[in-house]
Amino acid sequence: MKSILLRGGRVIDPANRIDGTFDVLAIDGKIVSVAPRGASAAPDGAAIVDAGRCWVVPGLIDVHVHLRDPGFPRKETIQTGLRAAAAGGFTAVAAMANTKPVNDSPEITGYMLDRAREARTARLVPVSAVTRNLEGRENVDYRAMAKAGARLFSDDGMPVDDENVLARAMREIAALGYAISLHEEDRGLSCNGAVNAGTVAARLGVTAYPNIAEAARVRRDLALAQETGAAVHIAHVSTRESLDLVREARRRGAHVTCEVTPHHMALDESAVLRWGPNAKMNPPLRAAHDVAALHDAIADGLIDIIATDHAPHDPESKHLGQLAGFFDTREAAPRLPAHAAGLFADCANGVVGLETSLGLAMDLVHRSLIGAPRLVEMMSLNPARLLRIDAGTLTAGAPADITVIDPNFDWTVEPERFRSKSRNTPFAGVRLLGKAILTIVDGEIVYDGRSGDE
Ligand SMILES: [Zn+2]
Repeated sequence: MKSILLRGGRVIDPANRIDGTFDVLAIDGKIVSVAPRGASAAPDGAAIVDAGRCWVVPGLIDVHVHLRDPGFPRKETIQTGLRAAAAGGFTAVAAMANTKPVNDSPEITGYMLDRAREARTARLVPVSAVTRNLEGRENVDYRAMAKAGARLFSDDGMPVDDENVLARAMREIAALGYAISLHEEDRGLSCNGAVNAGTVAARLGVTAYPNIAEAARVRRDLALAQETGAAVHIAHVSTRESLDLVREARRRGAHVTCEVTPHHMALDESAVLRWGPNAKMNPPLRAAHDVAALHDAIADGLIDIIATDHAPHDPESKHLGQLAGFFDTREAAPRLPAHAAGLFADCANGVVGLETSLGLAMDLVHRSLIGAPRLVEMMSLNPARLLRIDAGTLTAGAPADITVIDPNFDWTVEPERFRSKSRNTPFAGVRLLGKAILTIVDGEIVYDGRSGDE
């Protein structure tokens, strides 16, 4: 019988309103007790960890990652993606459906779960597509997907344009008891824009992606949610207008939750001038006033979840070679010549995030925007609730998925050391305070960063 005793850490378990110094004992993959220091006797042979000066929290969960498997092993595989997750403190991640083939069948869901089991690290929670092949036309068999193991439904990467298809999806998914996660983009308004509509897009001479492209869809879909009674989750909210709509819908009683990414809260559009393709994503980094609105919405509890939208890409997909001459991380880029602006618009969207998410989120606590328990709610409890999985707490009997965080671990982001196969991050060289030093899944240590130089 394997067991582990975490001694004397600051245990933060918001579901049970616990925040204090305790010992946590897990036996055979289950939490046994959270007890005053020294009160629990460890069984013979137990691994004993001194967690003093650390936080001991229910395992972190990311509800929005792209693991590129099946289909794009040059960018990421389930194995490398889950190892990156564990190194970032995540015990479970929800893998989006825009793989190749798309996860719209129980066979692909089964493939993902099999690969994850073999990896023996963080858990994978499959996300089912909403529409067949993400084409927006034909509803997937949601019941079959849930039976195969899907716990969230999303066409992420693509919006669902057709209202009838979406309303039917909302009704059927709600009847099964699950939530639908929405990538909110009116493509008639985003026009394949490369950068937020504002001074940076104008300076670079690239196509602009306005706030209204997101907010118009949020407005439509919250009306549909109200009409259908469905639980909807707004993915990667990025604009002040979207936040206002979520606030208003919640007041009216809609079942709406939303997430923010670490990059949308940590950076504004000006980062594109230095980081170029590695700061290009969809939705784009927004104006400083939108970032301020995101911070306000984090502080007042409107935003439920921090999720990475981990989007690994190889240098070729980002056109890094061809655009290298225009972007220098030390100074702002000049206006791009037309061919470079075209290449920039064409380069793949997204950034990796699993290994930097916690460090960036810790900044919210260090700056007292939120307290540590709220951070744990946003990165563990609320994600578990969205996914309807038995996780996010340290309740006796729950799976022993635990993250040990050193809140003052001082480190610098070095992309070449990522477990992820990809390096597309705008945070290279950034100094962060706070890091997971132990990630425990099912009572087993799957990541150990205690030595500091792993
Ligand atoms: Zn998306």
